[in-house]
Amino acid sequence: MVEPTAVASIAIKSASFIKKYWYVIAIILLILFLLPTLIFATVLNILFPQLDEEDFLYYKTLTEESGISWVSFISYDVTRLDNYLKENKAEESVFDLIKISFTEYEIVEREKEIIKIVDGKEVTETVTYKEYIVIRDLELKGHGPVSQLLKSLDYVISEESMKVKNVILFLENLNEKEEYETKTHILTDEEITTDYDEAHKEWYYALVEILPLLDPSSEFNPDEFIIPDLINNPDIPSIWPTTGSVTSEYGQRRLTGTHRGIDIGNNTGTPVYSTADGIVIGVGTSGGFGKRIMIYHGTDENGRTYVTVYAHLSAFKASVGANVSQGDLIGLMGNTGFSTGSHLHYEVRVNGTPLNPRLFLP
Ligand SMILES: [Zn+2]
Repeated sequence: MVEPTAVASIAIKSASFIKKYWYVIAIILLILFLLPTLIFATVLNILFPQLDEEDFLYYKTLTEESGISWVSFISYDVTRLDNYLKENKAEESVFDLIKISFTEYEIVEREKEIIKIVDGKEVTETVTYKEYIVIRDLELKGHGPVSQLLKSLDYVISEESMKVKNVILFLENLNEKEEYETKTHILTDEEITTDYDEAHKEWYYALVEILPLLDPSSEFNPDEFIIPDLINNPDIPSIWPTTGSVTSEYGQRRLTGTHRGIDIGNNTGTPVYSTADGIVIGVGTSGGFGKRIMIYHGTDENGRTYVTVYAHLSAFKASVGANVSQGDLIGLMGNTGFSTGSHLHYEVRVNGTPLNPRLFLP
């Protein structure tokens, strides 16, 4: 593997913390909820980022034009929920990242008499002035309190109006009226992690560094991609991930969209190997992929980041955080997820973009 980056090693350290202490979390949950199914689901999902392209794009859409960094936002949700993102409503949690100061005044016109001396005589004169009486002085954060405030201001709540950029705009426009004073502040990474313990803090900052590298919409033109030297190069995916026959090529059109990987069919239980040296960053069940493993292979000399995906497995033979070498057994072929027969779906993602795995096969 190319120089293992510091980022990756921090990420792994914090991921292994979660792994090491999953039983503590499980016991607490057992006491709190006594719901074994919930525990099972939670433990299954205490893994390093299980984010797919759709998640990235959704988080990005939510933060668009709001000034909130999507990287901080994803890092926040992943660490806060210990990666249990399934039931998270990101369109609500995004409001955790802004702090709103809001003051409302009642403006009362008052009169008072003043005594002036005109030509040596005392003259009483009545003047009017405004008194600002504070009716509400709030500091709030979070979707619930924010939408309550908005309702009290007769803001029409809808999916569109509750986009964070529209809310910020509305609140800031309130300042044009004399009776309001509002300020929105976007939390910094330090502020977001104030109440975090050390391990979660480390995890958060590792994500802040690693997520931009995995961004599927980063400035990367696959057509300009220069394939590195693959022969005897353990740093770059360059061997077959398993044995069998290719049943579907990259780029084939299907009902669900274009095929982003290559399918290799063989019997369930056929060994699946890591195609380059790397660090296992994802082991878990992910929608249509079924049981899938993701491996991060570092960056080549042109700054391209490599991640490989192995889907529809029947069993895992590697755990999150493990260092693997090219050719190491990582799982067994299977038929999990959206799959109509035992096969391996294999992807090579360069800077987050799935390229044709054939480019990386001997
Ligand atoms: Zn496939």
